[in-house]
Amino acid sequence: MADTGGLLVITAHPDDEALIAGGTLAACAAHGVPTGVVCLTLGEDGPISDPALATPGSLGETRREELSAACAQLGVRFIVCLRHEDGNLKWADPNAIVGRLVRIIERRRPNAVVSFGEDGLYYHPDHVATSELTERSVRHAALRPALYRAVWPPSLMSDLVSELRRRGLPDDLWGVAPEAFGSESECTSVTIDVRRFVERKLRALQAHRTQLPSEHAFAAIPGDLAERFLGFERFVQVGGAVDWLQETLGHA
Ligand SMILES: [Zn+2]
Repeated sequence: MADTGGLLVITAHPDDEALIAGGTLAACAAHGVPTGVVCLTLGEDGPISDPALATPGSLGETRREELSAACAQLGVRFIVCLRHEDGNLKWADPNAIVGRLVRIIERRRPNAVVSFGEDGLYYHPDHVATSELTERSVRHAALRPALYRAVWPPSLMSDLVSELRRRGLPDDLWGVAPEAFGSESECTSVTIDVRRFVERKLRALQAHRTQLPSEHAFAAIPGDLAERFLGFERFVQVGGAVDWLQETLGHA
């Protein structure tokens, strides 16, 4: 019998789940709340940190395995990989994707769904598309879960990179400029304190080995900086009458 209820995180690529909601997923697991991750692509077009880990031809399958390892760290009970083309979600048939997501939502009946905000974390086209597709899917589902967008404060990664540089530590963020992350556009409606779970979240991020070269900021981030910069997950609720995240984890 499938786990029903709980939290469903819908993302574009393996590693997004740990990045936008790793601590929240781990907190749910600690509370005995079922969780699942739906990933729309295998991220097969992404970089490869070390040629010993994968080839361009095998990267998708390797990243699927990395997603399993990351989700094991976070206590995620089920993973669905939809294998749409990486980098192409904006141009994929939205009705086909929404149809599949609606079926998953209706079968799993999550209390809450988390995906990207409208800014896609740093305006990654696949992330922006995933945010839109998730909202459409939740609207179309027979039993509507509460819907949350993950949001990052605009200076979060810039401040982290400044601290890392001051300490002479690696500071790469997938080659993305730190000031590109986050936006002012949305007000946070719920902040989950996940400091207790930040080590698990880091282990999940690090399980995505092909995405984390040794010069990456998260490869050797000290515990105090991990708590400060990865220890709070912020969400904006855009659907559903009850603030499920706040009620379930807000007083954790
Ligand atoms: Zn991504």
